[in-house]
Amino acid sequence: MTTNRIDDSVSVRIAEDSVCDRMAMDRFFRVCRWDPYHLKRFRYALFVEGRSDANAVAMLPDHIRSAVVDRFRLHSLPLPVVVSSVADASEKALFTCRTTDAFSSETFSFETVLIRGTSRRRTLCVSSQVGCAARCHFCATGQMGLSRQLATAEILDQVLHFRQRMRTTGEQLRNVVFMGMGEPLHNETALYAALEVLQDPRMFNFSPRRVMVSTVGVPDAMLRFSRRFPNTSLALSLHSADQEQRAELIPLGKTAPLSELRPVLKEMVATGRPVMIEYLMLDRVNDSLEHAVLLGKFLENLRVHINLIPYNPIDGLPWTTSPRDVRDRFAKCLRNEGFIVTVRHSQGQDIAAACGQLVTSD
Ligand code: SF4
Repeated sequence: MTTNRIDDSVSVRIAEDSVCDRMAMDRFFRVCRWDPYHLKRFRYALFVEGRSDANAVAMLPDHIRSAVVDRFRLHSLPLPVVVSSVADASEKALFTCRTTDAFSSETFSFETVLIRGTSRRRTLCVSSQVGCAARCHFCATGQMGLSRQLATAEILDQVLHFRQRMRTTGEQLRNVVFMGMGEPLHNETALYAALEVLQDPRMFNFSPRRVMVSTVGVPDAMLRFSRRFPNTSLALSLHSADQEQRAELIPLGKTAPLSELRPVLKEMVATGRPVMIEYLMLDRVNDSLEHAVLLGKFLENLRVHINLIPYNPIDGLPWTTSPRDVRDRFAKCLRNEGFIVTVRHSQGQDIAAACGQLVTSD
């Protein structure tokens, strides 16, 4: 398993030739003695308004334009292939990236999903890795293993591509969730730099509460994340409050047991940040009333929001989702204990873009 261990003091860097590197661009303008106002307009047009590359660059005066384009890349990823769901209008983008090995021409693919809910709020589900080393047994991505970490600029370019794409449809991107391929807390350095740019008022300007990081539970990294981004939302994929069963579903659960996760959750909710508990409803596996009671006990006195998620069947894997009435009964039991519970519907199932379904097929 590949885990990037960093401590709070490590400063994170982005590829210096990317427009996402704020400091490199600031420095470039300073050295050239250009008015920073031009840079401000360019960034707003690109990152916030999602204007096309040509329109954003046109915000710069003639004498600056070519120097900026020569020095900085607007995109780190080529345009993706996009597939739309007929059933619910979700979109799945297939991005490609090259290997980091300079002596190889191998390319990898990974996926990003735009979720169109019933309201006009759009949520983009971004990937932080190609594949995943966590190898959760129920997850399609987990079956791939880890191929490559995504760099910060590659994470951010998923958002930029969709911002630009959505400008053409007049839609607004409200939320960014790190729930695509990969365990984000196994790619901490790139994740933290990406979060800083996403939330920077001079760059993408997302409110911290509109950005969510999802993890299957890496306690030491959760604490680092918590201290560094005290207002950013976190989702913990719990899926069972029975230690033995959880470790069977999520191999990481063996080294990061529930007894370690509980104090971490306690520290996280103490800051008042939104904390979600994700719970996959697996038919006759973790969906009995006894499981609901156990979950309630594990979360006792923690102010969290519980999401009950239907399981999207994956070829070759044995699980199916719990019937709707079982999910409702489970939710009722938790609500009686005072928890806020949402019973989720799955989106993007027909394009294999639903939670746990992201996998790259050749
Ligand atoms: S559920 Fe998340 S952490 Fe687990 S294998 Fe899938 S992508 Fe990785």
